Amino acid sequence: MTVLPVQPFDLVIFGGTGDLALRKLLPALFQRYVATQMPPDSRVIGVARDAVSDEDYRARVRPWLEKSADGGEGAGMLDSFLALVGYRRLDAAKDEGWDEFAVSLKGADAERVRVFYLSTAPDLFAPICARLKRNGLTQAGERVVIEKPIGKDLATARAINDAIGDAFPERRIFRIDHYLGKETVQNLVALRFANALFEPVWASSQVDHVQITVAETIGVERRGPYYDTSGALRDMVQNHLLQLLCLVAMEPPAALDADAIRDEKLKVLRALKPITAMNAPQCTVRGQYRAGAVGGQAVPGYQDELGNPATRTETFVAIKAEVANWRWAGVPFYLRTGKRLPERVSEIVVTFRAVPHSIFGDKAGPVAPNKLVMRLQPDEGVTLWLMAKVPGPGGLRLQRVPLDMSFANVFGTRQPEAYERLLMDVVRGDPTLFMRRDEVEAAWQWIDPILSAWKDSVDAPKSYTAGSWGPSAAVALIERDGRTWHEDGA
Ligand code: NAP
Repeated sequence: MTVLPVQPFDLVIFGGTGDLALRKLLPALFQRYVATQMPPDSRVIGVARDAVSDEDYRARVRPWLEKSADGGEGAGMLDSFLALVGYRRLDAAKDEGWDEFAVSLKGADAERVRVFYLSTAPDLFAPICARLKRNGLTQAGERVVIEKPIGKDLATARAINDAIGDAFPERRIFRIDHYLGKETVQNLVALRFANALFEPVWASSQVDHVQITVAETIGVERRGPYYDTSGALRDMVQNHLLQLLCLVAMEPPAALDADAIRDEKLKVLRALKPITAMNAPQCTVRGQYRAGAVGGQAVPGYQDELGNPATRTETFVAIKAEVANWRWAGVPFYLRTGKRLPERVSEIVVTFRAVPHSIFGDKAGPVAPNKLVMRLQPDEGVTLWLMAKVPGPGGLRLQRVPLDMSFANVFGTRQPEAYERLLMDVVRGDPTLFMRRDEVEAAWQWIDPILSAWKDSVDAPKSYTAGSWGPSAAVALIERDGRTWHEDGA
Protein backbone atom coordinates (compact mmCIF):
# COMPACT_ATOMS: atom_id res chain seq x y z
CA MET A 1 0.00 0.00 0.00
CA THR A 2 1.43 3.45 -0.89
CA VAL A 3 1.87 5.66 2.12
CA LEU A 4 2.23 9.40 1.77
CA PRO A 5 4.23 10.75 4.71
CA VAL A 6 2.73 13.73 6.51
CA GLN A 7 4.86 16.70 7.48
CA PRO A 8 6.72 16.55 10.81
CA PHE A 9 4.47 17.48 13.72
CA ASP A 10 4.18 17.78 17.48
CA LEU A 11 1.27 15.98 19.06
CA VAL A 12 0.48 17.09 22.58
CA ILE A 13 -1.91 14.73 24.33
CA PHE A 14 -3.60 16.35 27.32
CA GLY A 15 -4.56 13.31 29.38
CA GLY A 16 -1.51 11.43 28.12
CA THR A 17 -1.66 8.94 30.99
CA GLY A 18 -5.35 8.13 30.49
CA ASP A 19 -7.11 5.14 29.01
CA LEU A 20 -7.75 6.59 25.55
CA ALA A 21 -4.19 7.86 25.13
CA LEU A 22 -2.55 4.59 26.15
CA ARG A 23 -5.01 2.18 24.57
CA LYS A 24 -5.75 3.97 21.29
CA LEU A 25 -3.82 7.15 20.49
CA LEU A 26 -0.22 6.11 21.13
CA PRO A 27 -0.62 2.68 19.46
CA ALA A 28 -2.28 4.39 16.47
CA LEU A 29 0.65 6.78 16.11
CA PHE A 30 3.09 3.94 16.50
CA GLN A 31 1.41 2.10 13.62
CA ARG A 32 1.71 5.20 11.43
CA TYR A 33 5.37 5.43 12.39
CA VAL A 34 5.92 1.78 11.44
CA ALA A 35 4.17 2.49 8.14
CA THR A 36 6.66 5.38 7.63
CA GLN A 37 3.83 7.90 7.48
CA MET A 38 4.87 9.66 10.67
CA PRO A 39 8.23 11.37 10.08
CA PRO A 40 10.98 10.55 12.61
CA ASP A 41 11.47 14.21 13.50
CA SER A 42 7.96 14.41 14.96
CA ARG A 43 7.34 14.57 18.71
CA VAL A 44 4.63 13.16 20.96
CA ILE A 45 4.20 14.79 24.35
CA GLY A 46 1.94 13.32 26.99
CA VAL A 47 0.59 15.84 29.50
CA ALA A 48 -1.01 15.08 32.86
CA ARG A 49 -0.65 15.95 36.56
CA ASP A 50 1.27 12.84 37.60
CA ALA A 51 4.89 13.49 38.57
CA VAL A 52 6.59 11.08 36.18
CA SER A 53 9.80 11.41 34.19
CA ASP A 54 10.08 10.93 30.42
CA GLU A 55 11.59 7.52 31.13
CA ASP A 56 8.74 6.47 33.44
CA TYR A 57 6.20 7.64 30.90
CA ARG A 58 7.84 5.65 28.10
CA ALA A 59 7.85 2.60 30.36
CA ARG A 60 4.11 3.10 30.90
CA VAL A 61 3.48 3.44 27.18
CA ARG A 62 5.71 0.54 26.07
CA PRO A 63 3.40 -2.42 26.90
CA TRP A 64 0.57 -0.85 24.87
CA LEU A 65 2.87 -0.53 21.86
CA GLU A 66 4.11 -4.08 22.29
CA LYS A 67 0.52 -5.24 22.27
CA SER A 68 -0.13 -3.25 19.12
CA ALA A 69 3.04 -4.55 17.41
CA ASP A 70 2.04 -8.10 18.35
CA GLY A 71 5.50 -9.44 17.49
CA GLY A 72 5.13 -8.17 13.90
CA GLU A 73 7.42 -5.94 11.84
CA GLY A 74 6.85 -2.99 14.16
CA ALA A 75 8.48 -4.68 17.14
CA GLY A 76 11.94 -3.67 15.91
CA MET A 77 10.90 -0.01 15.66
CA LEU A 78 9.58 0.30 19.17
CA ASP A 79 12.64 1.94 20.69
CA SER A 80 13.08 4.49 17.93
CA PHE A 81 9.40 5.45 18.24
CA LEU A 82 9.61 5.73 22.02
CA ALA A 83 12.57 8.08 21.60
CA LEU A 84 10.09 10.58 20.08
CA VAL A 85 7.77 10.32 23.10
CA GLY A 86 8.11 12.64 26.08
CA TYR A 87 6.09 13.76 29.07
CA ARG A 88 5.22 17.11 30.61
CA ARG A 89 3.69 17.52 34.03
CA LEU A 90 1.03 20.22 33.89
CA ASP A 91 -2.26 20.84 35.62
CA ALA A 92 -4.48 22.01 32.81
CA ALA A 93 -6.83 23.64 35.30
CA LYS A 94 -4.12 25.92 36.74
CA ASP A 95 -1.94 28.68 35.29
CA GLU A 96 1.39 27.51 36.70
CA GLY A 97 3.85 25.92 34.32
CA TRP A 98 2.23 27.06 31.06
CA ASP A 99 4.95 29.61 30.23
CA GLU A 100 7.71 26.99 30.26
CA PHE A 101 5.45 24.54 28.48
CA ALA A 102 4.86 27.03 25.64
CA VAL A 103 8.55 27.86 25.39
CA SER A 104 9.58 24.19 25.31
CA LEU A 105 7.13 23.52 22.49
CA LYS A 106 7.97 26.53 20.37
CA GLY A 107 11.68 25.84 20.81
CA ALA A 108 11.63 23.18 18.12
CA ASP A 109 10.17 25.17 15.28
CA ALA A 110 7.63 27.96 15.72
CA GLU A 111 5.94 27.17 12.39
CA ARG A 112 5.52 23.43 12.65
CA VAL A 113 2.18 21.67 12.75
CA ARG A 114 1.17 21.25 16.36
CA VAL A 115 -1.84 19.21 17.38
CA PHE A 116 -3.38 19.54 20.84
CA TYR A 117 -5.42 16.45 21.56
CA LEU A 118 -7.76 16.99 24.49
CA SER A 119 -8.07 13.47 25.85
CA THR A 120 -9.40 14.68 29.18
CA ALA A 121 -12.76 15.10 30.84
CA PRO A 122 -14.83 17.62 28.83
CA ASP A 123 -14.89 20.15 31.67
CA LEU A 124 -11.21 20.79 30.88
CA PHE A 125 -11.80 21.58 27.18
CA ALA A 126 -12.61 25.27 27.79
CA PRO A 127 -9.84 25.97 30.36
CA ILE A 128 -7.22 24.25 28.20
CA CYS A 129 -8.23 26.20 25.09
CA ALA A 130 -8.21 29.48 27.02
CA ARG A 131 -4.69 28.76 28.32
CA LEU A 132 -3.45 27.68 24.89
CA LYS A 133 -4.67 31.00 23.54
CA ARG A 134 -3.18 33.03 26.37
CA ASN A 135 0.18 31.35 25.79
CA GLY A 136 0.30 31.98 22.06
CA LEU A 137 -0.37 28.35 21.11
CA THR A 138 -3.30 28.90 18.76
CA GLN A 139 -1.36 30.12 15.70
CA ALA A 140 -1.83 29.07 12.07
CA GLY A 141 -0.15 25.64 12.30
CA GLU A 142 -1.85 24.77 15.58
CA ARG A 143 -5.05 22.81 15.84
CA VAL A 144 -7.16 21.17 18.50
CA VAL A 145 -8.85 17.78 18.67
CA ILE A 146 -11.71 17.13 21.05
CA GLU A 147 -13.32 13.89 22.06
CA LYS A 148 -16.93 13.13 22.77
CA PRO A 149 -18.95 13.93 24.73
CA ILE A 150 -19.36 17.43 23.37
CA GLY A 151 -21.87 18.55 25.97
CA LYS A 152 -24.76 16.72 27.53
CA ASP A 153 -27.42 18.72 25.72
CA LEU A 154 -27.67 21.55 23.19
CA ALA A 155 -26.95 24.31 25.71
CA THR A 156 -23.80 22.69 27.12
CA ALA A 157 -22.58 21.73 23.63
CA ARG A 158 -22.94 25.36 22.55
CA ALA A 159 -21.00 26.52 25.60
CA ILE A 160 -18.12 24.12 24.78
CA ASN A 161 -18.18 25.11 21.12
CA ASP A 162 -18.14 28.80 22.05
CA ALA A 163 -15.16 28.32 24.35
CA ILE A 164 -13.17 26.35 21.78
CA GLY A 165 -14.24 28.70 19.01
CA ASP A 166 -12.87 31.58 21.04
CA ALA A 167 -9.39 30.06 20.79
CA PHE A 168 -9.38 28.33 17.38
CA PRO A 169 -11.17 29.03 14.08
CA GLU A 170 -13.65 26.32 13.08
CA ARG A 171 -11.39 24.89 10.34
CA ARG A 172 -8.74 24.09 12.97
CA ILE A 173 -11.14 22.38 15.39
CA PHE A 174 -11.33 18.61 14.91
CA ARG A 175 -14.26 16.98 16.71
CA ILE A 176 -13.58 13.27 16.68
CA ASP A 177 -16.19 10.66 16.10
CA HIS A 178 -13.96 7.66 15.64
CA TYR A 179 -16.72 5.80 13.78
CA LEU A 180 -16.07 8.12 10.86
CA GLY A 181 -12.49 6.83 10.66
CA LYS A 182 -13.56 3.21 10.24
CA GLU A 183 -12.85 1.71 6.84
CA THR A 184 -16.40 0.46 6.30
CA VAL A 185 -17.85 3.85 7.07
CA GLN A 186 -15.69 5.43 4.39
CA ASN A 187 -16.53 2.52 2.18
CA LEU A 188 -20.19 3.37 2.55
CA VAL A 189 -19.42 6.60 0.72
CA ALA A 190 -17.46 4.66 -1.92
CA LEU A 191 -20.23 2.08 -2.25
CA ARG A 192 -22.92 4.70 -2.71
CA PHE A 193 -21.11 7.17 -4.93
CA ALA A 194 -18.60 5.08 -6.89
CA ASN A 195 -21.18 2.52 -8.08
CA ALA A 196 -23.97 3.61 -10.38
CA LEU A 197 -25.90 0.53 -9.28
CA PHE A 198 -27.11 1.83 -5.95
CA GLU A 199 -28.23 5.41 -6.49
CA PRO A 200 -31.44 4.58 -8.42
CA VAL A 201 -32.61 2.22 -5.66
CA TRP A 202 -31.47 4.38 -2.73
CA ALA A 203 -34.83 5.95 -1.94
CA SER A 204 -38.25 5.27 -0.48
CA SER A 205 -39.47 3.84 -3.81
CA GLN A 206 -37.13 0.85 -3.37
CA VAL A 207 -35.97 0.82 0.25
CA ASP A 208 -38.37 -0.63 2.80
CA HIS A 209 -36.41 0.35 5.90
CA VAL A 210 -32.92 0.81 7.35
CA GLN A 211 -31.51 -0.64 10.57
CA ILE A 212 -28.43 0.61 12.38
CA THR A 213 -27.18 -1.53 15.25
CA VAL A 214 -24.21 -0.86 17.50
CA ALA A 215 -24.08 -3.65 20.09
CA GLU A 216 -21.51 -4.04 22.83
CA THR A 217 -20.93 -7.03 25.09
CA ILE A 218 -19.12 -5.00 27.75
CA GLY A 219 -20.78 -3.26 30.68
CA VAL A 220 -19.79 0.16 31.92
CA GLU A 221 -16.41 -1.00 33.26
CA ARG A 222 -14.51 1.84 34.87
CA ARG A 223 -16.52 4.48 33.04
CA GLY A 224 -19.45 3.97 35.47
CA PRO A 225 -19.58 7.42 37.10
CA TYR A 226 -19.39 9.16 33.70
CA TYR A 227 -21.77 6.74 32.02
CA ASP A 228 -24.41 7.14 34.68
CA THR A 229 -24.66 10.86 33.92
CA SER A 230 -24.84 10.12 30.21
CA GLY A 231 -26.64 6.92 29.17
CA ALA A 232 -26.80 5.24 25.79
CA LEU A 233 -28.73 8.02 24.03
CA ARG A 234 -26.08 10.65 24.71
CA ASP A 235 -23.11 8.28 24.62
CA MET A 236 -23.89 6.46 21.36
CA VAL A 237 -26.93 7.77 19.50
CA GLN A 238 -26.20 11.51 19.53
CA ASN A 239 -22.88 10.93 17.80
CA HIS A 240 -22.07 7.50 16.30
CA LEU A 241 -25.52 6.29 15.27
CA LEU A 242 -26.66 9.65 13.92
CA GLN A 243 -23.44 10.05 11.95
CA LEU A 244 -24.01 6.64 10.36
CA LEU A 245 -27.61 7.54 9.61
CA CYS A 246 -26.42 10.73 7.91
CA LEU A 247 -24.01 8.86 5.64
CA VAL A 248 -26.74 6.44 4.60
CA ALA A 249 -29.37 9.10 4.04
CA MET A 250 -27.45 12.10 2.67
CA GLU A 251 -27.76 13.36 -0.89
CA PRO A 252 -24.71 12.94 -3.14
CA PRO A 253 -22.29 15.76 -2.26
CA ALA A 254 -20.91 17.70 -5.23
CA ALA A 255 -17.36 16.64 -4.32
CA LEU A 256 -15.45 14.69 -1.70
CA ASP A 257 -14.82 17.91 0.06
CA ALA A 258 -15.14 18.49 3.80
CA ASP A 259 -17.82 21.13 3.64
CA ALA A 260 -19.74 19.55 0.77
CA ILE A 261 -20.11 16.32 2.76
CA ARG A 262 -20.84 18.00 6.04
CA ASP A 263 -23.44 20.27 4.43
CA GLU A 264 -25.29 17.18 3.20
CA LYS A 265 -25.09 15.46 6.59
CA LEU A 266 -26.41 18.58 8.25
CA LYS A 267 -29.46 18.59 5.94
CA VAL A 268 -30.26 15.04 7.06
CA LEU A 269 -30.03 15.94 10.75
CA ARG A 270 -32.29 18.92 10.17
CA ALA A 271 -34.79 16.71 8.34
CA LEU A 272 -35.15 14.23 11.22
CA LYS A 273 -38.76 14.15 12.33
CA PRO A 274 -38.92 15.42 15.92
CA ILE A 275 -39.57 12.92 18.69
CA THR A 276 -41.26 14.64 21.62
CA ALA A 277 -43.32 13.63 24.66
CA MET A 278 -46.24 13.05 22.22
CA ASN A 279 -44.60 10.29 20.18
CA ALA A 280 -41.66 9.17 22.35
CA PRO A 281 -43.60 6.22 23.85
CA GLN A 282 -44.29 4.88 20.34
CA CYS A 283 -40.90 5.68 18.79
CA THR A 284 -38.39 5.00 21.57
CA VAL A 285 -37.51 2.20 23.98
CA ARG A 286 -34.92 2.55 26.72
CA GLY A 287 -33.62 -0.36 28.70
CA GLN A 288 -31.26 -1.19 31.53
CA TYR A 289 -29.54 -4.55 31.93
CA ARG A 290 -30.02 -6.77 34.94
CA ALA A 291 -27.77 -9.68 35.89
CA GLY A 292 -27.31 -12.36 33.26
CA ALA A 293 -24.58 -14.04 31.26
CA VAL A 294 -22.56 -12.80 28.30
CA GLY A 295 -20.36 -15.23 26.38
CA GLY A 296 -21.03 -17.89 29.01
CA GLN A 297 -19.86 -15.65 31.87
CA ALA A 298 -22.18 -14.50 34.63
CA VAL A 299 -22.27 -10.70 34.89
CA PRO A 300 -23.96 -8.39 37.42
CA GLY A 301 -26.75 -6.00 36.59
CA TYR A 302 -26.09 -2.31 35.87
CA GLN A 303 -27.38 -1.11 39.24
CA ASP A 304 -25.10 -3.53 41.11
CA GLU A 305 -22.15 -2.70 38.89
CA LEU A 306 -22.69 0.93 39.76
CA GLY A 307 -23.65 0.37 43.39
CA ASN A 308 -26.75 2.49 42.91
CA PRO A 309 -30.09 0.66 43.06
CA ALA A 310 -31.99 3.84 42.19
CA THR A 311 -30.28 4.72 38.90
CA ARG A 312 -32.59 5.12 35.92
CA THR A 313 -29.84 5.60 33.34
CA GLU A 314 -30.49 3.68 30.12
CA THR A 315 -27.90 1.18 28.88
CA PHE A 316 -29.99 0.32 25.81
CA VAL A 317 -31.93 2.42 23.32
CA ALA A 318 -34.05 1.55 20.32
CA ILE A 319 -35.53 4.34 18.23
CA LYS A 320 -37.72 4.48 15.18
CA ALA A 321 -36.51 7.58 13.38
CA GLU A 322 -37.71 9.18 10.17
CA VAL A 323 -35.95 11.47 7.74
CA ALA A 324 -38.74 13.72 6.57
CA ASN A 325 -37.58 14.67 3.09
CA TRP A 326 -38.42 13.82 -0.52
CA ARG A 327 -36.05 10.83 -0.73
CA TRP A 328 -36.87 9.11 2.55
CA ALA A 329 -40.42 10.02 3.55
CA GLY A 330 -42.13 6.96 5.03
CA VAL A 331 -38.94 4.88 5.37
CA PRO A 332 -38.25 4.03 9.03
CA PHE A 333 -34.67 4.12 10.28
CA TYR A 334 -34.54 1.77 13.25
CA LEU A 335 -31.61 2.55 15.53
CA ARG A 336 -30.49 0.21 18.30
CA THR A 337 -27.56 0.27 20.67
CA GLY A 338 -26.83 -1.23 24.05
CA LYS A 339 -24.41 -2.69 26.52
CA ARG A 340 -24.25 -6.31 27.65
CA LEU A 341 -25.81 -7.55 24.44
CA PRO A 342 -24.93 -11.05 23.17
CA GLU A 343 -22.43 -9.97 20.48
CA ARG A 344 -20.14 -7.09 19.72
CA VAL A 345 -21.42 -6.00 16.36
CA SER A 346 -21.91 -2.74 14.47
CA GLU A 347 -23.79 -2.84 11.22
CA ILE A 348 -26.06 -0.98 8.86
CA VAL A 349 -28.73 -2.99 7.10
CA VAL A 350 -30.67 -1.59 4.17
CA THR A 351 -33.69 -3.77 3.43
CA PHE A 352 -35.20 -3.30 -0.01
CA ARG A 353 -38.85 -3.67 -0.90
CA ALA A 354 -40.25 -7.10 -1.73
CA VAL A 355 -40.83 -8.00 -5.37
CA PRO A 356 -44.27 -6.71 -6.40
CA HIS A 357 -45.45 -10.15 -7.52
CA SER A 358 -43.93 -13.61 -7.08
CA ILE A 359 -44.07 -15.93 -10.10
CA PHE A 360 -42.71 -18.87 -8.14
CA GLY A 361 -45.68 -20.32 -6.29
CA ASP A 362 -45.84 -21.72 -2.74
CA LYS A 363 -43.46 -24.66 -3.26
CA ALA A 364 -40.54 -22.36 -4.09
CA GLY A 365 -40.73 -20.79 -0.63
CA PRO A 366 -41.08 -17.10 0.16
CA VAL A 367 -39.29 -14.49 -1.95
CA ALA A 368 -37.46 -12.60 0.78
CA PRO A 369 -36.48 -8.97 0.15
CA ASN A 370 -32.87 -8.13 -0.74
CA LYS A 371 -30.69 -6.74 1.99
CA LEU A 372 -27.44 -4.84 1.89
CA VAL A 373 -25.49 -5.32 5.12
CA MET A 374 -22.49 -3.12 5.89
CA ARG A 375 -20.49 -4.51 8.80
CA LEU A 376 -18.34 -2.08 10.74
CA GLN A 377 -17.25 -4.72 13.23
CA PRO A 378 -16.25 -7.46 13.55
CA ASP A 379 -14.84 -8.56 10.19
CA GLU A 380 -15.48 -5.33 8.27
CA GLY A 381 -17.19 -5.92 4.97
CA VAL A 382 -20.31 -5.78 2.86
CA THR A 383 -22.87 -8.49 2.17
CA LEU A 384 -25.64 -8.31 -0.38
CA TRP A 385 -28.36 -10.87 0.26
CA LEU A 386 -29.94 -12.10 -2.97
CA MET A 387 -32.51 -14.77 -3.82
CA ALA A 388 -31.13 -17.79 -5.68
CA LYS A 389 -32.36 -21.19 -6.79
CA VAL A 390 -31.31 -24.05 -4.53
CA PRO A 391 -29.29 -26.46 -6.75
CA GLY A 392 -30.79 -29.82 -7.67
CA PRO A 393 -33.57 -31.28 -9.73
CA GLY A 394 -36.24 -31.21 -7.01
CA GLY A 395 -38.24 -28.32 -8.50
CA LEU A 396 -37.48 -24.64 -8.21
CA ARG A 397 -36.86 -23.78 -4.60
CA LEU A 398 -35.55 -20.39 -3.53
CA GLN A 399 -33.16 -19.38 -0.83
CA ARG A 400 -31.64 -16.06 0.23
CA VAL A 401 -27.87 -16.30 -0.20
CA PRO A 402 -25.01 -13.90 0.59
CA LEU A 403 -22.77 -12.18 -1.91
CA ASP A 404 -20.08 -11.57 0.63
CA MET A 405 -17.12 -9.23 0.65
CA SER A 406 -14.85 -9.28 3.66
CA PHE A 407 -12.35 -6.43 3.36
CA ALA A 408 -9.65 -8.54 5.00
CA ASN A 409 -10.10 -11.22 2.30
CA VAL A 410 -10.35 -8.84 -0.63
CA PHE A 411 -7.59 -6.44 0.29
CA GLY A 412 -5.56 -8.83 2.41
CA THR A 413 -3.96 -6.09 4.45
CA ARG A 414 -4.23 -5.14 8.08
CA GLN A 415 -7.23 -2.88 8.53
CA PRO A 416 -5.89 0.31 10.11
CA GLU A 417 -7.52 1.43 13.34
CA ALA A 418 -9.84 4.42 12.94
CA TYR A 419 -7.57 6.63 15.07
CA GLU A 420 -4.63 6.04 12.71
CA ARG A 421 -6.48 7.58 9.82
CA LEU A 422 -8.01 10.36 11.88
CA LEU A 423 -4.76 11.47 13.52
CA MET A 424 -3.05 11.71 10.13
CA ASP A 425 -6.01 13.72 8.79
CA VAL A 426 -5.61 16.18 11.64
CA VAL A 427 -1.92 16.62 10.82
CA ARG A 428 -2.83 17.12 7.15
CA GLY A 429 -5.52 19.58 8.20
CA ASP A 430 -8.32 17.63 6.49
CA PRO A 431 -11.56 17.93 8.48
CA THR A 432 -13.75 15.77 6.19
CA LEU A 433 -14.12 12.96 8.72
CA PHE A 434 -14.71 15.25 11.69
CA MET A 435 -17.91 16.83 12.93
CA ARG A 436 -18.55 20.46 12.26
CA ARG A 437 -20.06 22.62 14.98
CA ASP A 438 -23.46 22.91 13.30
CA GLU A 439 -23.70 19.12 12.90
CA VAL A 440 -23.08 18.51 16.59
CA GLU A 441 -25.64 21.11 17.55
CA ALA A 442 -28.25 19.85 15.07
CA ALA A 443 -27.83 16.36 16.53
CA TRP A 444 -28.43 17.69 20.04
CA GLN A 445 -31.43 19.62 18.78
CA TRP A 446 -33.03 16.29 17.83
CA ILE A 447 -31.86 14.46 20.97
CA ASP A 448 -32.91 17.08 23.56
CA PRO A 449 -36.70 16.57 23.21
CA ILE A 450 -36.23 12.79 23.61
CA LEU A 451 -34.22 13.38 26.77
CA SER A 452 -36.86 15.67 28.18
CA ALA A 453 -39.70 13.29 27.22
CA TRP A 454 -37.93 10.52 29.15
CA LYS A 455 -37.16 12.80 32.07
CA ASP A 456 -40.82 13.75 32.43
CA SER A 457 -42.03 10.18 32.01
CA VAL A 458 -43.08 8.16 35.06
CA ASP A 459 -41.82 5.01 33.33
CA ALA A 460 -38.40 3.68 34.24
CA PRO A 461 -36.17 2.05 31.58
CA LYS A 462 -37.32 -1.47 30.77
CA SER A 463 -35.19 -4.14 32.33
CA TYR A 464 -33.41 -6.70 30.11
CA THR A 465 -31.26 -9.68 30.94
CA ALA A 466 -27.56 -9.18 30.25
CA GLY A 467 -26.73 -11.30 27.22
CA SER A 468 -30.12 -10.75 25.53
CA TRP A 469 -30.92 -8.36 22.66
CA GLY A 470 -32.55 -5.80 24.94
CA PRO A 471 -36.04 -5.45 26.37
CA SER A 472 -38.95 -7.14 24.63
CA ALA A 473 -40.35 -3.67 23.94
CA ALA A 474 -37.50 -3.18 21.44
CA VAL A 475 -38.68 -6.25 19.54
CA ALA A 476 -42.23 -4.95 19.71
CA LEU A 477 -41.09 -1.53 18.36
CA ILE A 478 -40.14 -3.06 15.02
CA GLU A 479 -42.59 -5.97 14.95
CA ARG A 480 -45.53 -3.57 15.30
CA ASP A 481 -44.55 -2.44 11.79
CA GLY A 482 -44.45 -6.03 10.48
CA ARG A 483 -40.64 -6.12 10.42
CA THR A 484 -37.92 -7.84 12.48
CA TRP A 485 -34.42 -6.95 13.62
CA HIS A 486 -31.80 -8.33 11.27
CA GLU A 487 -30.11 -11.51 12.45
CA ASP A 488 -26.81 -12.74 11.11
CA GLY A 489 -27.38 -15.34 8.42
CA ALA A 490 -30.41 -13.78 6.75
P1 NAP B 1 -9.12 8.88 31.79
O1 NAP B 1 -8.57 7.51 31.66
O2 NAP B 1 -9.88 9.25 33.03
O3 NAP B 1 -7.90 9.89 31.61
C1 NAP B 1 -7.99 11.25 31.90
C2 NAP B 1 -6.62 11.87 31.71
O4 NAP B 1 -6.69 13.26 32.00
C3 NAP B 1 -5.54 11.30 32.64
O5 NAP B 1 -4.32 11.24 31.94
C4 NAP B 1 -5.46 12.35 33.74
O6 NAP B 1 -4.22 12.26 34.38
C5 NAP B 1 -5.64 13.60 32.92
N1 NAP B 1 -6.08 14.76 33.69
C6 NAP B 1 -7.11 14.85 34.55
N2 NAP B 1 -7.17 16.08 35.08
C7 NAP B 1 -6.15 16.78 34.53
C8 NAP B 1 -5.68 18.11 34.69
N3 NAP B 1 -6.30 18.98 35.50
N4 NAP B 1 -4.61 18.50 33.98
C9 NAP B 1 -3.97 17.64 33.13
N5 NAP B 1 -4.37 16.37 32.95
C10 NAP B 1 -5.44 15.95 33.65
O7 NAP B 1 -10.09 9.23 30.58
P2 NAP B 1 -10.13 8.55 29.12
O8 NAP B 1 -10.97 7.33 29.20
O9 NAP B 1 -8.77 8.45 28.59
O10 NAP B 1 -10.98 9.62 28.31
C11 NAP B 1 -10.45 10.86 27.88
C12 NAP B 1 -11.50 11.60 27.07
O11 NAP B 1 -11.82 10.84 25.92
C13 NAP B 1 -12.82 11.82 27.79
O12 NAP B 1 -13.40 13.02 27.32
C14 NAP B 1 -13.66 10.64 27.32
O13 NAP B 1 -15.05 10.93 27.41
C15 NAP B 1 -13.20 10.54 25.89
N6 NAP B 1 -13.37 9.21 25.31
C16 NAP B 1 -12.71 8.14 25.82
C17 NAP B 1 -12.86 6.90 25.23
C18 NAP B 1 -12.11 5.71 25.75
O14 NAP B 1 -12.17 4.66 25.08
N7 NAP B 1 -11.43 5.79 26.86
C19 NAP B 1 -13.69 6.75 24.11
C20 NAP B 1 -14.34 7.87 23.60
C21 NAP B 1 -14.17 9.09 24.20
P3 NAP B 1 -3.97 12.87 35.87
O15 NAP B 1 -5.18 12.59 36.67
O16 NAP B 1 -2.73 12.18 36.33
O17 NAP B 1 -3.73 14.32 35.67
